[in-house]
Amino acid sequence: MKHTFSIISLAALLGGGLPIQAKLNVVATVPDFGAIAEEVGGDKVKVTSIARGTEDAHFVDARPSYIRVLNQADVLDEGGAELEIGWLPPLVNGARNARILSDAPGHVVLSRGIRLLEVPTGPVDRSMGDVHPLGNPHFWTDPANGKAIANALSEAFSRLDPANAALYQANAQKFDERLDKKIVEWTKLMEPYRGTKVVTYHKSFNYFLERFGLELAGTIEPKPGIEPSPSYINGLIPRLKSEGAKLVLIEPFRPRKTPEYVAQAIGARLVLAPTSVGGNEKVKDYFSLFDYDLAQIVAALKEPK
Ligand SMILES: [Zn+2]
Repeated sequence: MKHTFSIISLAALLGGGLPIQAKLNVVATVPDFGAIAEEVGGDKVKVTSIARGTEDAHFVDARPSYIRVLNQADVLDEGGAELEIGWLPPLVNGARNARILSDAPGHVVLSRGIRLLEVPTGPVDRSMGDVHPLGNPHFWTDPANGKAIANALSEAFSRLDPANAALYQANAQKFDERLDKKIVEWTKLMEPYRGTKVVTYHKSFNYFLERFGLELAGTIEPKPGIEPSPSYINGLIPRLKSEGAKLVLIEPFRPRKTPEYVAQAIGARLVLAPTSVGGNEKVKDYFSLFDYDLAQIVAALKEPK
């Protein structure tokens, strides 16, 4: 009896026991990974995203109800590079689900397939509170990285649900082709604004800026995750002026007062742009995230201040 039990648990651990017709139960940390999981998985997956698009992905209000959600998960998609380190580990520990523990086939760390920006070359001093100690984890804001995310998810889903592997691969390929077409369109739209200097609150747009030929002139935060002091802002303003920064680009959930003050002081336009699906009511999927943000930026840059 004891033997039979351990063989069954082992089969469950290895993920071989997916009942016929059951959907893969996918949990994504941020809604962008969830949105892409839906594109790749179609009606073969049930997707839950933990963070909302209106939240800072570093500081998510991780309600304990997600422990139950994670307990039932076949797949956990996380960004990694310490993006979720402040809130995900207690949920995963509480869930006691071997299918999503690190190194289980159901645990997907998406940053592993990405060329990360700003990876530190020397030793990391965590005492400073920098929330990007392993490099910049906001890689999904470059739509080209969306393709890498789709392909990693298609591989993971195919491994766990081989009966539908051909479908996952076909869906990922369709998604990649749609993105490729849109990237050409978006790049053309941004062509007249190449080299525009931009200020952001956090280093959350770096991949986005690089993709569309915009340049980061400075950030409202002195370091990722650290709120600015008045003396930092007073030193920042003349630097931004001499750089000729034209745009202050912030997520809608950031405090508004300091960015407004900086925009006013340097004669730049303030633009609210979500970095995640669900960041406002118009950003419903991974494509509309870029459609929306780029339209806001173009509208602000067209009209001289
Ligand atoms: Zn960050």
